[in-house]
Amino acid sequence: METKEKTLLSWLKDAHAMEKAAIDILESQEGRMEHYPMLDEKVSEHLETSRRQAERVKGCIKRLGGDTSVIKQGIAKFMGNVGALTNAGAPDEAVKNGIANYTVEHFEIASYRALVAAAEEAGDDETRRVCEEILQEEEAMAEWLEQNLPQVTQEYLQRDNLQEAKR
Ligand code: MG
Ligand code: FE
Repeated sequence: METKEKTLLSWLKDAHAMEKAAIDILESQEGRMEHYPMLDEKVSEHLETSRRQAERVKGCIKRLGGDTSVIKQGIAKFMGNVGALTNAGAPDEAVKNGIANYTVEHFEIASYRALVAAAEEAGDDETRRVCEEILQEEEAMAEWLEQNLPQVTQEYLQRDNLQEAKR
């Protein structure tokens, strides 16, 4: 195997670990944000998208003769730290989830952007196509969060203010 292909395979394994960790984060958020139904629905939708992405990345790894039995720890640890920000049960949970997800999406965008270039360099057209499509899905999610995080934050503060008034 050529060095470029080997490196591409190694980075695809990173991406697979990243998707697995993203799935864990989204699963921990799903169904918990009853006051923010739009965000909750989006989390469920992107959870399904992420599960498909993990499978598609796995497909690329297998085509290159690799396997996904060992989850790469560096990426998993980084994502775990971001996920820890979500702080389930805190009153501002939805806002924290929005911030964590925004971070995750941008990490994913950067990773797939690098992967598209790496696949191109290695001459792996199928991997490039898959990574380009996933990149678009991550960009769409990042854009949704960018547009909706301010509203989630304002709604939280208004609700928080009401509760203060009742005391
Ligand atoms: Mg993803
Ligand atoms: Fe994503």
